[in-house]
Amino acid sequence: MTAPIVELIGDTPLIRLKAASDATGCEIFGKAEFLNPGGSVKDRTALGLIRAAEADGSLKPGGVIVEGTAGNTGIGLALVAGALGYKALIVMPRGQSAGKREALVAAGAQIIEVDPAPYSSEHHFVHTSRRIAASLPNAVWANQFDNPANKAFHAATTGREILEQTGGQVDGFICAAGTGGSLAGIAHALRAAKPDVSIGLADPAGGALYSWFTQGELKSEGGSITEGIGVGRITGQLEGLEVDHAYRIEDVDFLPLLFDLIQTEGLSLGGSAGVNIAGAMKLATDLGPGKTIVTLLCDSGARYAGKLFNPDFLRARGLPVPPWTEPDASANL
Ligand code: PMP
Repeated sequence: MTAPIVELIGDTPLIRLKAASDATGCEIFGKAEFLNPGGSVKDRTALGLIRAAEADGSLKPGGVIVEGTAGNTGIGLALVAGALGYKALIVMPRGQSAGKREALVAAGAQIIEVDPAPYSSEHHFVHTSRRIAASLPNAVWANQFDNPANKAFHAATTGREILEQTGGQVDGFICAAGTGGSLAGIAHALRAAKPDVSIGLADPAGGALYSWFTQGELKSEGGSITEGIGVGRITGQLEGLEVDHAYRIEDVDFLPLLFDLIQTEGLSLGGSAGVNIAGAMKLATDLGPGKTIVTLLCDSGARYAGKLFNPDFLRARGLPVPPWTEPDASANL
């Protein structure tokens, strides 16, 4: 079965990021994943996981797709489930921002909240979601972190699209990792077509992958206000992946870029897109001028009004604030 909303997932445009390109002498493009119907790159993951479960026969008409997630994957799963005749059951830890919960409910997700617990505990929401899926008749566990369908779908769609849109002339690709599905899948597709392409990881502070790729050990330092990225283990998506470059991106590094993009290019983006663009500029500097570099604009800024663009929240953490929210900003008009 197919449905109109599903047809709108993917085939997102590549946007030339002017300031980032001008500053580095490279052509830096962002793939506009915020234009997916559920508003993020994770619509692709949701569709890929559901299509794989249909294909292996585990998801039957009217069946339930269960996942442990507090974020964009849940929104994507709920919308795709609705479009294709399934139900989505989302397990999330209590204490998430009200906005996230509301967005999930607005997408039609049924939600089960559990107390927060470390990943090593059987009570962690991801493990709880697996048990719930096993206990329900006609239910499957999406398992975005370790299900190979996640990266396979990114290779077949996001990676293929980048090759088509650049005419194969792509010198570098970089993004952050949440599950690692987009990074690993896109890296696979690009390397298959262009073996000398440079693949980069942009890790937010607090993520353990930067130290993994640079020193061979998982070590987390500091923290970040970004959401959906910064992973502490080698997920199934990341197993066997090697990258050519890895960068650690602090919140203070990407916030001014996000603010400038709004004011000078009319692009309002989420924090992971900011980390990705900061990473793309570092990769551009390392590769040298004249190269074509692609990254992902995973979701839009509107989802993070209470954090990324909230001067009180930012000031309390010693972070830069959007210049237009300064008390005397209107004096400059
Ligand atoms: N950005 C945002 C906003 C996300 O929600 C996610 C997924 N958690 C990512 C980036 C990372 O994507 P992936 O899971 O493919 O690594």
